[in-house]
Amino acid sequence: MLELKEIEKRYGKFYLHNISFKISKTKILSIIGPSGSGKSTIIKIIMGIIKPDKGTLLFDNRDISSFPPEVRNFGYIPQSIGLFPHLNVKRNIEFPLKIRKIKKNIRDTAVLEIMKDFDLMDLSERYPANLSGGEKQKVALARAIIFNPDIILMDEPMNSIDFQKREKYLNFIKKTNKKYGTPIIYVTHNLEEAVAISDEMVAIKRGEIIKHGTLNDFMREPDDVWIASFFRHKNIISGYLKNRELKVNNSDLIIKTSLEGEGEKDIMIRGDEIIISKKRISSSALNCFKGRIKDVIPNLYNTELIIDVGGIEFRVLITEKSYKSLDLSVASSVYLSFKANSVKNLRGDFIQ
Ligand code: ADP
Ligand code: MG
Repeated sequence: MLELKEIEKRYGKFYLHNISFKISKTKILSIIGPSGSGKSTIIKIIMGIIKPDKGTLLFDNRDISSFPPEVRNFGYIPQSIGLFPHLNVKRNIEFPLKIRKIKKNIRDTAVLEIMKDFDLMDLSERYPANLSGGEKQKVALARAIIFNPDIILMDEPMNSIDFQKREKYLNFIKKTNKKYGTPIIYVTHNLEEAVAISDEMVAIKRGEIIKHGTLNDFMREPDDVWIASFFRHKNIISGYLKNRELKVNNSDLIIKTSLEGEGEKDIMIRGDEIIISKKRISSSALNCFKGRIKDVIPNLYNTELIIDVGGIEFRVLITEKSYKSLDLSVASSVYLSFKANSVKNLRGDFIQ
């Protein structure tokens, strides 16, 4: 198990601080966050390439903070992938064994085995310049794993891979994790990748952890405005909360919530937790507002309605089937209903 304890690093105005989290054996933990939030810095600190100003790094309860990278036995795929251009595929993969002074016959067997495993035999003599993004990725992963590392650190590894091929490589990474049991820390700023790969996620913003939890935790309670927008939630509304009611800014709308406290607040409501009806639904636990459909956007697997309610725009996801059966179109009047419990509190601010 790897544990980061109160890691800190300052670069001028940028201040990475209070970075504490653990990752257990066999797990995949992803680090998400806007560009410049400190993701690569954390990975480099774990790897030992950057020395933190403060904090401790433990591996299996041993303090490894002062260990140089080569002693840490961690596999690393940097943001740039970092294959050696002057070495062919075979030599690139062999490299970590060579610097560890493993005997030639053992090296040859290990390289052959992993190249077979990763389906790289036909590429063994090729140089990185003549590989596709996906092939480079595979070679980098083979090189990061051949010496049986205790952990693999991957920094936005899909950047050079065609969108259509990403799923295949994600599955490949997952299989590698299952087969070797090696924990992986996976940095990404892509939602699909994070959802497909994560057992756990850490979100970081301006050098600080804003949430750590399972994928389910992130989906259910995004907690922060940036996380909510990363998960593409659209109904993010600002207002003033008092007595569990949110008076929406620039509108007469009052939303019933189950939130405590008083003051300026940002909240969100999931687009699939809003019910559309032609008649008013009444219940004390419900918010029910009359609105007018401004636009209809067909999505891949559902339909998104943009509905104006007293100057505030709500986005509601409904199935194509319900959309048809309700006989709706642009300019139709509809009622939107959602529970007080569906109103989630958000902290923080938007940054990209
Ligand atoms: P991310 O990977 O999340 O995009 P980074 O960890 O690369 O972010 O960078 C975080 C911040 O630290 C940025 O503002 C970046 O400019 C700064 N930074 C990173 N490395 C250095 C460095 N070696 N010297 C000065 N500033 C740096
Ligand atoms: Mg980075």
